[in-house]
Amino acid sequence: MRKLQIAGFLDNSLVNGSGLRSVVFVAGCRHNCKGCHNLAMQDFKYGDNVNIKDVFFRIKKNIPLIKGVTFSGGEPFEQANGLKNLATMIKGEKLNIWCYTGYTFEYILKNLKANDGWEGLLYSIDVLVDGRFDINKMKDAIKYTGSSNQRIIDVKESIKKNKVIILKT
Ligand code: SF4
Repeated sequence: MRKLQIAGFLDNSLVNGSGLRSVVFVAGCRHNCKGCHNLAMQDFKYGDNVNIKDVFFRIKKNIPLIKGVTFSGGEPFEQANGLKNLATMIKGEKLNIWCYTGYTFEYILKNLKANDGWEGLLYSIDVLVDGRFDINKMKDAIKYTGSSNQRIIDVKESIKKNKVIILKT
């Protein structure tokens, strides 16, 4: 996979994860959450079809300012193969990776082998913000989440300990 369907890009953001980060928004999502804040990005054809290397070069221009990169959307796990390749390049620069997903961590683990690229992508991620956006649970949402059902998960620790470990932010 050499290309990604990109819906948007932020060079520097402080609200999509811990520290200053570049953010890659991918196009396409089937979760159809009520009150979706990125409605246009649900369309798999939205935005531009971009070479992964070009996305990486844009990220690289923000080094050393940024602490990491965040994958958002849309649904990043719909373009898992491409994002996994991008993640490998990002990891080469010693940057951490956050990823937002409408799937739960448990669902991803359960379906890891059945979906192309999911395993590679999950193992590249440091922090996963999981779960669909729930418009009825916005009130108690913590920083970096949209609704209180979403969790900020330390992926490496969770895999190691075989249980969900919430990241202290
Ligand atoms: S997961 Fe995100 S992009 Fe997808 S429908 Fe829900 S809020 Fe919208």
